[in-house]
Amino acid sequence: MALQEHNYWLTTVEIPAPNASLPSPEVVDVAVIGAGFTGLSAARTVAKRGAKVAVLESETIGWGASSRNGGMVLTGMKLGVNQLISRYGRELTQRMYAASLASMDCVEQIVREEGIDCDFSRSGHLEVACKQKHFDDYARQAEVIAREFNHTLRVVERHELGSEIGSTIYYGGMVDEVSAGCNPARYVAGLARAAVKAGAGIFEHARVQTIQRDSRQGEPGWKLSTSRGPLWAHEVFVATSGYTSRATPALQKRIIPIGSFIITTEVLPEKLAQELSPRNRMIYDSKNYLYYYRLTPDRRMLFGGRAAFFPESDQTVRRSAGILRRGMIGVYPQLADAKIDYVWGGTLDFAFDIMPHAGQMDGMYYALGYAGHGVAMATYQGQKIAELMAGDKPDNPFVGIPFPGAPLGLYNGKPWFLPLAGAWYKFMDWVS
Ligand SMILES: Cc1cc2nc3c(=O)[nH]c(=O)nc-3n(C[C@H](O)[C@H](O)[C@H](O)COP(=O)(O)OP(=O)(O)OC[C@H]3O[C@@H](n4cnc5c(N)ncnc54)[C@H](O)[C@@H]3O)c2cc1C
Repeated sequence: MALQEHNYWLTTVEIPAPNASLPSPEVVDVAVIGAGFTGLSAARTVAKRGAKVAVLESETIGWGASSRNGGMVLTGMKLGVNQLISRYGRELTQRMYAASLASMDCVEQIVREEGIDCDFSRSGHLEVACKQKHFDDYARQAEVIAREFNHTLRVVERHELGSEIGSTIYYGGMVDEVSAGCNPARYVAGLARAAVKAGAGIFEHARVQTIQRDSRQGEPGWKLSTSRGPLWAHEVFVATSGYTSRATPALQKRIIPIGSFIITTEVLPEKLAQELSPRNRMIYDSKNYLYYYRLTPDRRMLFGGRAAFFPESDQTVRRSAGILRRGMIGVYPQLADAKIDYVWGGTLDFAFDIMPHAGQMDGMYYALGYAGHGVAMATYQGQKIAELMAGDKPDNPFVGIPFPGAPLGLYNGKPWFLPLAGAWYKFMDWVS
């Protein structure tokens, strides 16, 4: 098979297309912008409470990062625990870590309750150390995580690493058995079906262009103009992550869209697949400019990284195939002759402080900033913010933390500094 510039996961699923020909409603209780994990999880939750919900998606269900990712359902956050504790203090960090563990259970519970066939499996994750000093830090991190968060990580010495991974380039690893893997496209398709079953309407090819405060029959709310016509909503939930646009300028200024790219090989012989990843872990390395990889359920090697910092385009996707293939062979020389079947890219949503953020801004609800840790956290935040919208008071440690914009306000949503940031991270990987 010739290399396809196409998302492999989409070949494994039929994405539902509800309401394709129906006009969108004119008045709803809640308008959700974006049909990814965040928006669909929120829509499912509020629709189950009886609210009339319209999910507005500029493309198709799961079109954004939610169908394009590595399917690694991960514990923890992008930032290390020591950094989190020094920034937020012990108590708040404990609540954040607990939320990250709860987000795993949240995904598992939805998958089970809704009967979503997405190969969800608690196969654990393995972080591998690219330098001795990164490995030395694992024992310290594991100790803090056990003491502060009562969560066990297992440090794997270099000489034992063969039981976890068929690569000899790393200095050791750290395993978290709680993390899981899934097929993200099947998961987002299942979430969409669940949201529709709960009563939500999903409207594709409905790009939200403007959002204005408006009152209707004395009730405060919002007037949205969309490419499928106008809509009035009591509440708006913005769930647009790395694809956040000028429709919500205050959020756009706080989110940096960063490209991430993935290749998958042809289906590998079972013996080779076993050798590469004997425990079927979700694997990522310790660099800033990191690689992440795993076997797919049909035994391809899926290998991803930030091969270009800019978001996906024909050019960045094509260039990434070669860069990632060289990276993969660096890790696994056994794959030198394996054919690459698919390459694709997607956009990550980084806040300037590399933290998830959720709550209300300018009167609208939002959740985003998952920084590559969004499969579980996006699902969870969608649910928690929907509960808040419905009048509950759920514990959510990410609501109310400072949400910084660019230093000196030097950013209007166009990330001109990405090449500099990319060079900086490469430099940091070299020296740290
Ligand atoms: C290549 C890649 C690999 C990744 N790997 C992992 C991983 O292994 N594990 C992990 O935990 N996370 C991973 N992530 C991150 C994870 O996929 C995201 O954090 C998560 O999918 C975010 O979901 P979301 O619903 O918030 O956003 P998205 O799924 O990006 O959905 C946002 C949607 O909003 C729509 N939209 C935007 N603007 C408008 C508008 N004006 N009107 C209407 N619709 C609009 C977009 O079309 C899009 O469909 C990865 C991401 C990428 C790109």
